[in-house]
Amino acid sequence: STSLMAGKRGLIMGLANDKSIAWGIAKACADAGAELAFSYQGEALLKRVGPLAEQLGSNIVLPCDVSDEASMDALFAELEAKWGKLDFVVHAIGFSDKNELRGRYVDTTRGNFAMTMDISVYSFTAIMQRAEKMMTEGGSALTLTYYGAEQVMPHYNVMGVAKAALEASVMYLAEDLGKKNIRVNAISAGPIKTLAASGIGDFRYIMKWNEYNSPLRRNVTIEDVGKSALYLLSDLGSGVTGENLHVDAGYHVVGMKAVDAPDI
Ligand code: NAD
Repeated sequence: STSLMAGKRGLIMGLANDKSIAWGIAKACADAGAELAFSYQGEALLKRVGPLAEQLGSNIVLPCDVSDEASMDALFAELEAKWGKLDFVVHAIGFSDKNELRGRYVDTTRGNFAMTMDISVYSFTAIMQRAEKMMTEGGSALTLTYYGAEQVMPHYNVMGVAKAALEASVMYLAEDLGKKNIRVNAISAGPIKTLAASGIGDFRYIMKWNEYNSPLRRNVTIEDVGKSALYLLSDLGSGVTGENLHVDAGYHVVGMKAVDAPDI
């Protein structure tokens, strides 16, 4: 249907390439009739993000490094000048030193802990400070998290601690912004082979484990995440805020290895 998001304008942050979760979400929103703007980090990504945006009929492609306040101010100033009002925003951004996405959590350095929290957690709050001002008719915001926030996953380490903080910030943002009819939710996606995921140790093993042990006996795709994102970002999710929706083929309900799971 192209009417669900007709007349709605959304900012997609965190598109790196056509494997990105942000791409699955952008496609679902554009198919439903939304008008999109994209932010990208670093000049090197422009040659990828530019053509992808164009595929979805968007020519608003702006640089933004979320660790830099001036860069964030510039992004929102530009968007304000172009659009005035904003209906939705997608935060599909995370980062940590990949040397600490293996081995032991206890060995996390102070520097990488602070950087991981800044880029992967605080950035969503910093975005909402700015987006709030443009969401004059209400709005919907979405971030991406992982089950490693709730249970210990191999190698996820400091990123698990960051995702737990991100999930808590979703609740606090939902309360603060709810009075303005701005909804704030998260999707907890199952493992998907993306650029960011390739930094996590033994990621192939994690993918196999989820495929063999999730109730649906498969991994999820960026299209699966896109469809659920569309629900939360559109009027279909009008009564939902502060939620963490698991789009993980049901893996989060499983308590033990499936009896039919092959050896990995
Ligand atoms: P991805 O590599 O395609 O996207 C990560 C994005 O973060 C990139 O576009 C990168 O440019 C951006 N980014 C990093 N540092 C930035 C900064 N300082 N400023 C602006 N942008 C910055 O990988 P992805 O898997 O699509 O990741 C999107 C989100 O989904 C992340 O939050 C990730 O933790 C989350 N997630 C991923 C999985 C998975 O298995 N892939 C599962 C659950 C949650």
